[in-house]
Amino acid sequence: MERLECLVKKLKKNEHHITIIIALILTGLILLLSNASAIDVFVNPVHSPNGAVLLIVDGMGSSYIYPEFVPYDLDGNELGKANLSNIISISESGTRVLDVRAPQPSTTPGHSVLTTGYSKANEDTVGEMITIFDVVRKHDYICMAVMQKGDFEEMRAEQDAILFDASHSIREPLIALDYKLSCPNDVVELMQEWQNNSLLEEKEGVERYIAYNEWAIGASDAIASFMCENHPDQKFLLTVNVGAVDLAGHYFGSEQYLYVIEGLDRDIYGLYKTCSESNLIFIIKADHGMAFDRTEIGREVGGHASEKYAKTLETQRVPLIINGPNIRKDIISGIYGQEDVAPTLLSGLDIMEVLPCSDGDIIPVKEYANLRVIVGSPTEVVVLQKGDVSVASASGDYITFFGLVPYNYTILVSSHEEHINLRSDQIVELHISRADHRMIIATMMISVVMVVGLLAIWKIMRE
Ligand SMILES: [Zn+2]
Repeated sequence: MERLECLVKKLKKNEHHITIIIALILTGLILLLSNASAIDVFVNPVHSPNGAVLLIVDGMGSSYIYPEFVPYDLDGNELGKANLSNIISISESGTRVLDVRAPQPSTTPGHSVLTTGYSKANEDTVGEMITIFDVVRKHDYICMAVMQKGDFEEMRAEQDAILFDASHSIREPLIALDYKLSCPNDVVELMQEWQNNSLLEEKEGVERYIAYNEWAIGASDAIASFMCENHPDQKFLLTVNVGAVDLAGHYFGSEQYLYVIEGLDRDIYGLYKTCSESNLIFIIKADHGMAFDRTEIGREVGGHASEKYAKTLETQRVPLIINGPNIRKDIISGIYGQEDVAPTLLSGLDIMEVLPCSDGDIIPVKEYANLRVIVGSPTEVVVLQKGDVSVASASGDYITFFGLVPYNYTILVSSHEEHINLRSDQIVELHISRADHRMIIATMMISVVMVVGLLAIWKIMRE
């Protein structure tokens, strides 16, 4: 007790000195931290979207909708193709990736690959906090979903709110709603209204299948429009699965399968228009395709997961059509994988993060590319084009250059040169041993001031 009183007396006596020393230490800390913080440099203006709608058309193979492909059944007979207008015009105003392969052509693994960017993902992987939902949430997004298939428990747990068909039945759908407090109240109320699915009333046969999809598209359009109107500053990711194309393929054969795709094509335009008018990315995707086999009695049966179907191109090749304020108009050839979709979507949102388990690559669909340079200590980083023309520069140890024209660049750090071919967003980590001298001297001086300050306080307290 006596020692404590004595210490308080000493501190009071040296109050003036201690104040100065503490101020110096704090200044040193602020200087050190300011050098170590993230720096954003906008080389050109970027048009980052406010969010995204990811539409997964269950079982829609690109063989049946892309003009470049011809679908065949398992015996090699040529099959028909869907007669489309909206999906074609939507693809013409954005980027269409020609050949994207589903590594696991089945619904649950397909959705797991799509949302983790990992080609071997399953539902357990989705439960491991490594999905695109976990990443965007760190960037203040909310995640919502309308799903008729692919809505397994781990997928539902990733959403702030999800409308899903708990019965997985077009005959008797049972639309359920799971939500968390993180989803705005008025959005929950809107979703509750959409639990009532009146579109199916008096619809039978394949028309009922088309109406089933129409409900999911309508609910998604209503949610996206409502968010943009009533929560314009809240970024969001809306995942949609329409289930009837897949089911029509399984139960009715290829003609009705194509008929349901054509119905979806008619109903899809409103959702696309909402996205394009509201600065949102809109992606048309599928979890897997569909192959057809003719039985002995001449009836066609569709499938995708079992071995004889899974090995076909009709099952493996899935569409990827992406539109957005920062997305190019292009057709991209070359073979890509389903695991590339999640990294590509993050890039479209200008979120410079790597999905923890992803083995996918960013497909260059964006009009520009961002470059993050991470160096061991605060240093001047210069980005050069054509060998010696400086495009941008900044000092720091974690710098992101936004809006670079896709091109070959040289990153200059001290005397070290790193050559990169920047076609899509890239993160470059450099461990430069000889950092900028001025920075080293400044850091050393700040450290000396701090050490002297701490020694002075220690001395006062010991006296
Ligand atoms: Zn599926």
